Amino acid sequence: MTRRAATATHSLQAIASGPAEAAHSGIREVVNLALVTPGCIRLEVGEPNFPTPSHIVDAAIEFARKGHLKYTATAGMLSLRERLAAKLAKVNGIQAGVNNINCSVGGVGGIAGTVAALVEPGDEVLVPDPAWPNYRLMLAWAHGVLVPYACAPANQFLPDPREVERLITPRTKMMIINSPCNPTGAVFPRPLLESLVDVAVRHNLYLLSDECYDEVILDGEHTSPASFCTDGRVISAFTFSKTYAMTGWRVGYVVANEEISDSITKILESNSSCLPAICQKAAEAALDGPREPLLQMVSAYRDRRDLCVGLLEEAGLLISRPSGAFYIMADVSRSDMDSREFAFDLVSSKKVAVAPGTAFGESARSAVRISLASSPEDLSRGIARMIERIEELSA
Ligand code: PMP
Repeated sequence: MTRRAATATHSLQAIASGPAEAAHSGIREVVNLALVTPGCIRLEVGEPNFPTPSHIVDAAIEFARKGHLKYTATAGMLSLRERLAAKLAKVNGIQAGVNNINCSVGGVGGIAGTVAALVEPGDEVLVPDPAWPNYRLMLAWAHGVLVPYACAPANQFLPDPREVERLITPRTKMMIINSPCNPTGAVFPRPLLESLVDVAVRHNLYLLSDECYDEVILDGEHTSPASFCTDGRVISAFTFSKTYAMTGWRVGYVVANEEISDSITKILESNSSCLPAICQKAAEAALDGPREPLLQMVSAYRDRRDLCVGLLEEAGLLISRPSGAFYIMADVSRSDMDSREFAFDLVSSKKVAVAPGTAFGESARSAVRISLASSPEDLSRGIARMIERIEELSA
């Protein structure tokens, strides 16, 4: 008897409430509508529009031909973790040994592994607002309590550490920070990171630093909290997805003290056993290879950022100039709709898809996210149509 037939005649036990009750990503709704709208300009998608550099693909194919496609160590091949330790020291100023590193299915796997390793039911976790929606989904199955802290548009999408501190209770276990930030493109300046670390130290919180865009820096520089906070409370997550346009290869890694890393390894053993060997070899080739392809991609994002800043500023819709990642937020409050309603309206009326701020949190209710991973032509045409629509709605 199939499960469907069984539900018709018997009442099955309830499935786990966390994931069952959590809302799906609010970006997906717009994607679904865009997919059935012929000719729609897609500015909602959050992944590089560049191919993976060819030397990385070639190295993976060569490795596959040699036939060493077996299980690897759960935490990742030693040769990859050695290279990652060198990258962390050079790029991030983080001193880590191979036992501090777990390779994971994307950055998301390392972040989820960290949540599983640290969060117990009822633990409160401070999460930026707006934020990447996956943190909310992870806390749903871990039965953690999400406590949003504002990264307000009026403050360049940066948090106020005093406000963050006011949200702390005896149940607070961890603070998540994400710089460079998806969806806002904000890069937290070092003094701000120092203040947030100071809050974490004084209240003995873990700090999960999502640095998946660490090498997509458009202005200034990126600081890793673990480069100056070395007492073991910082867990740092990274990925190959963005830096090397390798989203589909699913290689990320998470760096933590040895006790936490050991727990994460057990979690990864239980849900993925290891990353595909071919993808780990591709990651090694990315680290060993030339940096020009990634510098060229960042330079293209920077040009697109400048283009969009100009267009939005002229129309009075710019909130702040992003310094990292590949997103820009636009203020759509003049439309007199919340951003979810506006995003649906924009697909139907002008065939342009943007990600509604409501998908990321309350603070971004009147904003939409535009992905700089779209072509300059699509960005110009899409933003022009969006401005037109806002003018129609506010006339
Ligand atoms: N963190 C943030 C803020 C992200 O935007 C993403 C992907 N969109 C990730 C982590 C995870 O990326 P991946 O799993 O592809 O490495």
